[in-house]
Amino acid sequence: MADILITGGTIITMDPNRRVIDDGAIALEADRIVAVGPREEVELSHKSDRVIDAAKNVILPGLIDGHGHAGHALMKTIGHGPAGMWGDIVDYVYAEGTDEEFWYADALLSSVDRLKNGTTCGVTYFGGGTMIMRTDKPVYADNHCDAVNQVGVREFIAVGPSNPPYPRKYVSWSSGASESEMVGFDQYLKTSEEIINTWHDKGSGRIQVSIMSPVINPSRAPYKDMSAKDIKDQSKRARDLAYKYDLIFTQDGHDTGTVEFAHRELEILGPKCLLSHSTGLTEEEINICSETDTKIAHNPSSGNSYPSRCPVPELLDSGVTVALGSDGSGPDMNYDMFRHMYVCMRQHRGEQRDGTYMPPGKVLEMATIDAAHALGLEDQIGSLEVGKKADLILIDMNKPHLYPLNMPVHRVVGFANGQDVDTVIVDGQVLMRNRILTVIDEQAVLERSQNVTELMLKRTGLHSKLEIQPGFWGSSKYPV
Ligand SMILES: [Zn+2]
Repeated sequence: MADILITGGTIITMDPNRRVIDDGAIALEADRIVAVGPREEVELSHKSDRVIDAAKNVILPGLIDGHGHAGHALMKTIGHGPAGMWGDIVDYVYAEGTDEEFWYADALLSSVDRLKNGTTCGVTYFGGGTMIMRTDKPVYADNHCDAVNQVGVREFIAVGPSNPPYPRKYVSWSSGASESEMVGFDQYLKTSEEIINTWHDKGSGRIQVSIMSPVINPSRAPYKDMSAKDIKDQSKRARDLAYKYDLIFTQDGHDTGTVEFAHRELEILGPKCLLSHSTGLTEEEINICSETDTKIAHNPSSGNSYPSRCPVPELLDSGVTVALGSDGSGPDMNYDMFRHMYVCMRQHRGEQRDGTYMPPGKVLEMATIDAAHALGLEDQIGSLEVGKKADLILIDMNKPHLYPLNMPVHRVVGFANGQDVDTVIVDGQVLMRNRILTVIDEQAVLERSQNVTELMLKRTGLHSKLEIQPGFWGSSKYPV
C-alpha cells in the first residue's frame, strides 16, 4: 500500500533519460518515491487510500534554489536606489539592528515564500549586504533553523565569517535594551562550529550546514589593508572547518582574478566548493573550475546589475556544473525560481544576441538535477526516480497562459510562474495542497513578519529609507 498515489499528470522526471510521461503516476511510501511511470502500470502495482488527482497538472521534482540570503525577506527594497545605499543599510541592520525574533520571522517568511513558489530545497547565506554574517552567537541561526524546520522545506544554511575588517561591532537586543560586542575571526568560526554540531544533518535531516568565506581580491578594499599571511590563514581555516565536517564550502561574489587567487593562493577550490555569482571569469578561471570540479551558483536576476557577466554557456561547455539561484528576496529579486529560469534564458540569449542559447531543458536542469549535483545530493533529490526522496511539486496547467497543453517543458520554463504551483510535497509530507499550506498558518507568518519589521525600523530609525529616493521618477538612472 502506498501512502500517496499521484495520478494522471504529465511527469517531467529529470531522470537520466529525461523521460516525460504523459498520463503518468507516482507512488510514495514514507519519505520515498516507490514507483514512477505510466498511470495504468503504476495503478496496477500500487494502491493507496490517499490519491491526488493530477489531471491537467505537470509534476516536477521540487525546485532547488542554489543561492539566497537570510534577512533579505524582511529588508526587501529598504533604501534601494542610489548606489551602495541598500548594501550599507543591510550591513548595519544585520549587525546592529536585529534581535533573535527577527531571524525567526525572516526564516518563516522566506521558507513559506520558497515553498509557495515550488522550491523545496534552498541555499541560504546567514547574512548579506557586503557579507555581514550574523554568526556572532549561535542563537540567531538556531532561531532560523527552528523556523525552517517548522515549515518543512530543505535548506543548506551557510555560516562563517563576515567580511573584514575584524573585529567588527555587533549589537544584541533584548526587550528594547542593547549590548554591543566586538567580534573577531575566531569567534565567527567557533559559532559556526557550534551551529554545525547543533544542526548539520540532525533530526529530520532536512537542514545541512555549509561554510562560507568572503571572496578575496587582495588589490581591493577591505583586503588591500590586510597582510597576505592573514588573508591566507583565515581562508584556509574556514576551508578546514568545511573539510573537518565534509561540508560544502561556498563564496559569494567574485570579479576577475578572484577564482585564480582562490585556487592558486588559497587552495580552496574543489568538488565540494560552490561559488556564487562568478562574474567576470577569465578563460583560465573557467578552466580552473572545470579541472577542480568546482560548482557555480548562477543568479541571473541579480547578475544583470553587475559590471561583468557570468559566462554560463562557456562554463557549461567546459563541463562545469552550474546551479540556478535566486540570490534571495532583496533588494528587487524574489524567490520565484520560474522567473529566474526565464531571466536565465533571456539574459544569455541577449548577451550572445542569439536565440539558440540556453534551451529550456538545460535551464530546468540547472534548477533541479544539476543543482542537486552541486549540493552533493544528486542521489537523493533533483529528479523523480524510484528510491529518491519524495520531494515534488504539481503545477496547475489549466490556465490561459499555460495552454495549449503540449510541449510541457517549454511551457513550464517559459510561461509558468510560482503562483501556478498547486501542491508541494517534501519528504513525503504534503506541505501545500490547492495553494493552502497544511502545516503552518500562513496569515500568522505574514503578521509576524510585519510586526518584527516595524520593530526593527523603530530600533534602527530607518523609516525614512522607506521613502522614494531622489531620481526614482522621471529619470533614466538614480543620481550617483
Ligand atoms: Zn548573494
